[in-house]
Amino acid sequence: MTKVFDTDLAAGFGTRAIHAGQRPDPLSGAIMTPVYLTSTYVQDALGQNKGYEYGRGTNPTREALERNVAALEGGRHGFAFASGMGCLDSILKLFRSGDHLICGENVYGGTVRLLDQIWSHLGLQVTYVDTRDPQRVDDARTDRTAAILVETPSNPLMRITDLAAVAEIARRGRALLIVDNTFATPYFQRPFESGADLIYHSTTKYLNGHSDMLGGIAIVQDDALADRLKFLQNAGGAVPGAFDCWLALRGTKTLHLRMPCHDANGRRIATFLSERMGAERVRYPGLATHPQYDLARRQMSGFGGMVTLDLGTRERAATALSRVRVFALAESLGGVESLISHPASMTHASVPAERRAALGITDGLVRLSCGVEDADDLLADLDQALRGL
Ligand SMILES: *Cc1c(COP(=O)(O)O)cnc(C)c1O
Repeated sequence: MTKVFDTDLAAGFGTRAIHAGQRPDPLSGAIMTPVYLTSTYVQDALGQNKGYEYGRGTNPTREALERNVAALEGGRHGFAFASGMGCLDSILKLFRSGDHLICGENVYGGTVRLLDQIWSHLGLQVTYVDTRDPQRVDDARTDRTAAILVETPSNPLMRITDLAAVAEIARRGRALLIVDNTFATPYFQRPFESGADLIYHSTTKYLNGHSDMLGGIAIVQDDALADRLKFLQNAGGAVPGAFDCWLALRGTKTLHLRMPCHDANGRRIATFLSERMGAERVRYPGLATHPQYDLARRQMSGFGGMVTLDLGTRERAATALSRVRVFALAESLGGVESLISHPASMTHASVPAERRAALGITDGLVRLSCGVEDADDLLADLDQALRGL
């Protein structure tokens, strides 16, 4: 194989995005990783195979994606799953009944649902903590604390967790620091550099970037932890199909082109909304008025396209959502197209109402996923949608 393929970690981000984990097809030399649509592999003789036995265990298209995203995060091992939730569900199988997990109080609604309505019933003890304050994380630790799970920036309140500070707390308590890096992506934030043990993504979002598949991926450095995840991936079987892996892999090839554009549009829109509606109504870590702006700048190299706006009431939120023409009313985020959503009734509907209220996920909150359309068109769309509000 020529050197450009299977790029090592010393190469730049864009070179890794395009090449890492991939090599020309050995049969034809096809430069694009083929979609290996097969459930099984013919063996040469009893006990002799080419390293592939059955599709749940291994698939070459899936492996290319796993190696690619692992290289982008600066990790050593990747494990792809059928969705972000399927990925987290498999990660949680690392633990045992009676183990204690500290979870950021503002995380994706489906994460809360999975923990409270499935894993708590199976004996996992969960404490939700405002992880903006590392001291609170430390105070929540018990001698059964096996892991700390954080999402930063958080969804939809755009709160930041100091990853290095929490990694130090996790290390002292021999707990794993697990980071949901879906919002920032490795282009803007690399949690391993701050001491995280396990990073996961909903590849459905920015990594794929085109809203045409569902997937999740877990990345680790440690070989022993990788062995356990590999076992869980095959034993639990929540694996993605080869075509979805191929779509995600096509997406990661342009991550370094898309993210600066999401970021530029996010900054312009957040600035516009802050001037028009008042800074206290807009949450975006790249605004100097964000309470954790300094931490965000230290920990991230850009802020992405997620902006949250507080319109005060459900009625005003509904009016804005009904008027948009370029932004589309839909759940999800991270695609090239701009989306607008209402967290209280959509992504966070599974969080109990009183908990939503305590957190500040109010009925007036609207979440924007700024796509990569022309910023002027997005601004004009929001301008008309917010008229009189
Ligand atoms: C969407 C999302 C998930 C869940 O991923 P799915 O692919 O929808 O299962 C988890 N975390 C965050 C931050 C998300 O945005």
